[in-house]
Amino acid sequence: MTTIVWFREDLRLSDNPALFEAAERGDVLPVFVLENPDHCGETHPLGGASQWWLHHSLESLEGALGGLLLRCGDARIAIPALVQETGASAVYWNRCYEPRAIERDTDIKADLKQRGVEVRSFKAGLLHEPWELETKSGGPFKVYSPFWRAAQQKTVDKPLPRPGELRLAPMPGGESLSDLGLLPKKPNWAAGWDDIWQPGEQGAMARLKSFLGNDLKGYGELRNRPDLPNVSRLSPHLHFGEISPRQIHHETGLAEEEVDGLEKDAAKFISEIGWREFSYHLLYHFPTLPHTNFKPAFDAYPWRESADDLIAWQKGRTGYPIVDAGMRELWQTGYMHNRVRMIVASFLIKHLRLDWRHGEAWFRDTLVDADLANNSASWQWVAGSGADAAPYFRIFNPMSQGAKFDSEGTYVRKWVPELAALDTAFIHAPFDAPHAALEKVGVRLGDTYPKPIVEHFAARDAALAGYEAVKRGGEEAA
Ligand code: FAD
Repeated sequence: MTTIVWFREDLRLSDNPALFEAAERGDVLPVFVLENPDHCGETHPLGGASQWWLHHSLESLEGALGGLLLRCGDARIAIPALVQETGASAVYWNRCYEPRAIERDTDIKADLKQRGVEVRSFKAGLLHEPWELETKSGGPFKVYSPFWRAAQQKTVDKPLPRPGELRLAPMPGGESLSDLGLLPKKPNWAAGWDDIWQPGEQGAMARLKSFLGNDLKGYGELRNRPDLPNVSRLSPHLHFGEISPRQIHHETGLAEEEVDGLEKDAAKFISEIGWREFSYHLLYHFPTLPHTNFKPAFDAYPWRESADDLIAWQKGRTGYPIVDAGMRELWQTGYMHNRVRMIVASFLIKHLRLDWRHGEAWFRDTLVDADLANNSASWQWVAGSGADAAPYFRIFNPMSQGAKFDSEGTYVRKWVPELAALDTAFIHAPFDAPHAALEKVGVRLGDTYPKPIVEHFAARDAALAGYEAVKRGGEEAA
């Protein structure tokens, strides 16, 4: 009996319930379908950095399985067609939670069932399904702390092992990986990424073990320091499902048992996985989250439009070193440290008063961990328009954020090398440095490094003035 296992955001063999159950049932036909966003109504298509990651992750999965059928096109057509072609009697998959994926999967399930095919879907991408947690009054959570308290009351399932024996069914013809065209061509902006990242299940587990062994100690405090290695960098692995949150939960528990004094850091780390769970909970219950203000009062915000400012932000040429360092780290590596994500997002939304959706779109294209739930929830969080969001009037000061979290300027020196020789006293505010201090190290503002595109205090005042419209909107709605 052949079971088609449809891989999506679960590109791994271990703790993969769809694969595990299919292998128990008989022969397995593993398939991945690359959907063309233009034909499938996808409003948030896979960005360039994610495509790079996906290519390598599929390569790794194909190697580990011993074969993987690749198909292109609308999965609503491709999956039933594959059933017909192969005579498979069942289709299994692990659940996705993006609104379009839910709609698509529901349609496919109904179609296949009508054809007499056994269809099963499984929980694999979250600790708890979004519908398994609800407030005391029975609705979805909108605030993180009670959400996470409720989540912690529930038992996390143990991760499954890899299937003991995997018998692959004969493979019909498909696309080759290179046919999918996921890698950048000219220019190849990802040329150095093989040295930074190891996409795939093996790389994911190695990353987790390395983090737990070396950098979990101190995570609670040091996770805010972009100049230090104390974060896991597991986000792209998690997004593509090369590792499951259950595995992370389990392995972190083991690390905690082995080494004394890790409890607080481990709890903090798992609570960040909790933020991921919360974002998925929000996306599931409020599917307009990626494109609509969660708090409608923010519809009244008078956003500016400025292509020049947006480009300066995207290219890391705002004249604010910590912002520019973050944007360049993103462009050069496909990743940005969480603290710096908050700073650059605040800068775009508040200093430049550009709509958070511009930022969401840029991050979606450039992050290797671009994730519809985390990205939209986080952008709305910074904008103040989201659920349990940072208040709008809390506007990050890029100079003091830099001084606090990158006190020696190590992070800025790495990503903004034209400022590398600048005295630490001015590394986060070169525009305040005396002319002689700049001249000594060859920095010419407006030439070798940009002058600030906005003045901090004036920008702050303008942002707060814009917020008045939101407050008025909120009062009128109340
Ligand atoms: P760690 O600190 O090691 O955390 C472990 C895991 O917990 C992460 O891999 C991630 O899955 C989860 N996590 C941590 N912080 C958050 C958070 N604030 N919200 C949700 N989950 C979290 N994360 C993404 O995975 N994809 C995105 O597209 C994304 N966009 C973001 C946009 C903005 C504006 C901001 C402020 C944050 C965004 N984040 C996003 C959340 C967070 O910045 C990253 O998850 C984190 O930096 C990834 O690095 P890490 O794996 O080393 O994190």
